[in-house]
Amino acid sequence: MEENIPISWLNDFLFCPRSIFWHNLYGNFAKSTYQQTPQIKGLQAHENIDKKRYSTSKKWLASIDIFSEELGLVGKIDLLNQETGELVERKRTIKKIYDGYYLQVWAQYFCLVEMGYSVKKIFFHSLTDNKRYSIKIPTETEKQKLKEIILQMKHFSLEKKFSQNPHKCNHCIYCELCDIPQ
Ligand code: SF4
Repeated sequence: MEENIPISWLNDFLFCPRSIFWHNLYGNFAKSTYQQTPQIKGLQAHENIDKKRYSTSKKWLASIDIFSEELGLVGKIDLLNQETGELVERKRTIKKIYDGYYLQVWAQYFCLVEMGYSVKKIFFHSLTDNKRYSIKIPTETEKQKLKEIILQMKHFSLEKKFSQNPHKCNHCIYCELCDIPQ
């Protein structure tokens, strides 16, 4: 496992630790080889709105690279309003805010703070229904939870005992690739 972990892996690791293996293996391949329609639609929604609404506004920082030396994380944020300190993570449609979503914005928050940015509010924005969900600013408790997950990721091994969850596998973008005995 690399020393710096991509923030985008946190959600996937919570969903299934084995997905990290596929990330590593297919990370350099064309995304169309493994992304399914919902993932592609989500990315397109991000791109379209970036171009239309945010490209000319200087107060919005969009898709900037972030890192945390303390946490060993690298990634990108979606949007940060430099005037109001609003950090916004857009998703195509939010039906439920999963634990992995929280980890993602906590990680973004701690990276930004370490880099010297001011973040005062955090939101998820569901694009298809235009709903916004406010998230509490994370504290030291959330930072410790994040660190625990990062530690688990760093020590993850395919050799470890693993119970497949068919319900998850049926909804996993790697279901065609992951041939694990039932
Ligand atoms: S197919 Fe199942 S076991 Fe494989 S990565 Fe996806 S959820 Fe995990």
